[in-house]
Amino acid sequence: MTGTAEFAIEVQSHYQEIHSDRWPVVVVPQADELLSSWLNRLAFANGIAPRHFADVFGIDGGMWSARLDLALPDGAARLLHHYSGVARDTLAAMTLAQDERTRLLLPLRQTGHRRRSTWLQFCPQCLTSDLAPYFRRRWRMATSISCPMHGCGLRDRCPSCGSGTAAFDQPGLIPQHHCATCHFDLRTAAKVSVKAATRRFERCLHDMLRMEAAKGFLTKSSLIARLLSLPTAVDPRSARTLINLSSAARIRCFDQIAEECHDHLTAGTEASQIIFWHQRILAPVALLQPCNRSASGCGSVS
Ligand SMILES: [Zn+2]
Ligand SMILES: [Zn+2]
Repeated sequence: MTGTAEFAIEVQSHYQEIHSDRWPVVVVPQADELLSSWLNRLAFANGIAPRHFADVFGIDGGMWSARLDLALPDGAARLLHHYSGVARDTLAAMTLAQDERTRLLLPLRQTGHRRRSTWLQFCPQCLTSDLAPYFRRRWRMATSISCPMHGCGLRDRCPSCGSGTAAFDQPGLIPQHHCATCHFDLRTAAKVSVKAATRRFERCLHDMLRMEAAKGFLTKSSLIARLLSLPTAVDPRSARTLINLSSAARIRCFDQIAEECHDHLTAGTEASQIIFWHQRILAPVALLQPCNRSASGCGSVS
């Protein structure tokens, strides 16, 4: 090298990243992760309490991240993509906006009677096995009552204080798998048992929903309406729909349907082909015996 040598300085890609305006910590979305769960993890990882992360989007607090699950405005999606580096398609896939089963989603409610549903369920064992505990999209569905991986029942509130999950309202830097009210570690919640027949019935319901969605029938058929009225099939005195029952009450409802009455899902005015498909899905689990309950109903689910 001579004294007159010239140096060409070039900014390499990793150097450019240091000077980018992305948030410092990258959080990779997990399989079937709900957008709100990822937002809570993103906020925590970057040192912002989830309650205050709503300010980034200029939206009101409350159940802010749960509302974004249902409708992610274009401006919020653009901002998230810009600062997190996560693709717009990936962000959209974490929402529930395009899901044909939206009528089966648990309603957004922050507080409520212990016998009523909360907005989100969880499997303590899934949270335990996660490297970074996160909440699944399927846990928002009223038809989900158990974990297919661990075989246990889903929970919908903190066993210590009875509050529903509310990480969006967490004012401190506490991970989302701790109750926002009492800080109980949700991973340590006791296992909820669910009968094998009830879990088989639950799988059948999901098969029926998948089949109708694949055939393009889901928005036209009465399946979702029938699922919503399952509590009435079990107890004609019940005025509640499935989405308004707590996880424990839905497990009891499915117990009774699985054991005693299934024709609520197969009889009716559907096209004969749909009824045939439903019967084929239900047949292998021996759910096709006639309903043997009295007209006054066979129990209470609320
Ligand atoms: Zn699980
Ligand atoms: Zn609690």
